[in-house]
Amino acid sequence: MTPFSIAGAGRTLRDGSTTSVELVEQVLERSSMVEAQVHAYLTLDSEGIVRAAREADQALATGNDRGPLHGIPIALKDNMTTRGMETTAGSRILAGYIPPYDATVVSRLRAAGALITGKTNLDEFAMGSSTENSAFGPTRNPWNTDRVPGGSSGGSAAAVAARMAFGALGSDTGGSIRQPASLCGVVGCKPTYGAVSRYGLIAFASSLDQIGPLTHTVEDATLLLDAVSGHDPLDATSYPGALVPSGERLGRGLEGVRVGVAADIGGVEGVEPDVESSFARIVAGMEGAGAKLVDVSLPSTAEGLSAYYLIAPAECSANLARFDGVRYGLRVEGTTTEDMMSRTRAEGFGPEVTRRVLLGTFALSAGYHEAFYGQAQRVRTLILREFARAYEQCDVVVSPTSPTTAFALGDRTDDPLSMYVSDVFTIPSNLAGHPSISVPVGTDRNHLPIGFQVMAPALEEAVMFQVAEAVEALAGFDTTVPFDPEFGLRGGVR
Ligand code: GLN
Repeated sequence: MTPFSIAGAGRTLRDGSTTSVELVEQVLERSSMVEAQVHAYLTLDSEGIVRAAREADQALATGNDRGPLHGIPIALKDNMTTRGMETTAGSRILAGYIPPYDATVVSRLRAAGALITGKTNLDEFAMGSSTENSAFGPTRNPWNTDRVPGGSSGGSAAAVAARMAFGALGSDTGGSIRQPASLCGVVGCKPTYGAVSRYGLIAFASSLDQIGPLTHTVEDATLLLDAVSGHDPLDATSYPGALVPSGERLGRGLEGVRVGVAADIGGVEGVEPDVESSFARIVAGMEGAGAKLVDVSLPSTAEGLSAYYLIAPAECSANLARFDGVRYGLRVEGTTTEDMMSRTRAEGFGPEVTRRVLLGTFALSAGYHEAFYGQAQRVRTLILREFARAYEQCDVVVSPTSPTTAFALGDRTDDPLSMYVSDVFTIPSNLAGHPSISVPVGTDRNHLPIGFQVMAPALEEAVMFQVAEAVEALAGFDTTVPFDPEFGLRGGVR
């Protein structure tokens, strides 16, 4: 049996014990068994990946080895443009849209020899925490199909968890990689803002959006990240300097690492007891493994959620102005141009997107701009300063990834606020532009995965991955989802 990791599959490809075609068969077989229940994909390019796998095998046989992703099936969240393959962002307004170009991450994946399995489901325009806001039906959590996979990269997280891809790319504006990774029991990382090009990523909130990997292991996350990161002249906010290889500090353990614990992060109550106890268990384990625990304070992160829900909608109201029925996407005819635009947007956008556009337009409107948007920007600055102060005393800060494990479908759809609090622990890193990762560390009393978050200062991915790998080893979590080959997913019973 091929180890289900990018690194493991890479080894077996090179020692000749498997082929890329076999990896693809494995992925397709799994999809035929579970995809009808999980609905991780909006597009699964079965023919395309078989063809690409044959080419990858041939290339490897003739000594043309393109590196760690060569011949490995990787899924893409459907808000990254793929030339010739439908890209919807989970929205009716883009249904049927076939982009004429590849996002930078997509061309980099192709150049690295990766096989693009298809496009994964997401909350419409990446707005949500459960993937229930997709215009094309929800994704379900492979650990228990009555539960949500998290969001907005729920399709990517579920595809990796259910082994319908060896790894996936997601995007994270306020937690959309880390929260679904946490709920689906996989690794998910949001790199430093600017580390990965946003060219071809359908914009939600441009000052917060970042693309990053979802994988089974921490090592895999470094491989996938390094394949897509680095400066891109097509993205003005792309980091111009050289990036340190993400895996540079793997294997160094925790000896002497200063781990910050902020009791006031997010200012939340309502963390589930099982999440709290698994967090405490890992932190104690880290100390036992030689880490030095440091109490730090991040009081302004308590206002992070409020600041985020002004900044992100403000930016989205501007970004989504381009969906007007004129150049591409849905058009609903009207009596005048304005009527056409308003009908197109009314029909094309779902309720959450509409809510955000209205909220953002209001927060930016004359007379309220300073009170809302301006104030939120000041909170953002405070959070940055507090992180800077904390990092004078520690190398990383840790927290749970999400206050709860996977909740039931439909549980939070009627109450937007209850959905928004999923991101209290993840939003601070987006506001600060810092890298952050979720590592699966255990399960709760209902056999649902629990994630552990490691945050680091800007461009310190190598330290973050060093600590994340040590946490992964301490936790000894088995990422294999409960699965019965005869009956498919078993609804959470291991
Ligand atoms: N859940 C958050 C939101 O709905 C984060 C989404 C994201 O990171 N794309 O805005």
